[in-house]
Amino acid sequence: MYQYRCACCNQVLSSADKSCPNCGSHYIRSPFGFWFFCIITCLVMAVGVMAGKLYFKQNQDAVTPKKVITDLMQSGKN
Ligand SMILES: [Zn+2]
Repeated sequence: MYQYRCACCNQVLSSADKSCPNCGSHYIRSPFGFWFFCIITCLVMAVGVMAGKLYFKQNQDAVTPKKVITDLMQSGKN
């Protein structure tokens, strides 16, 4: 599935081939179609959103106890 193929005769080609050795066609189909980039983009975005949510959650967890301590210290001073 992830192979370069000739668009004319469907001959399997290597990525280095510039033309088809079978029929001489220069039209080589790339294994990485639009759908492939679409799926990769979706995956990257999903991972990014998940990482962002985790990051903010961790930040909130890290900030909240500090805020409580500083609030306590300030109330103690007053
Ligand atoms: Zn061909």
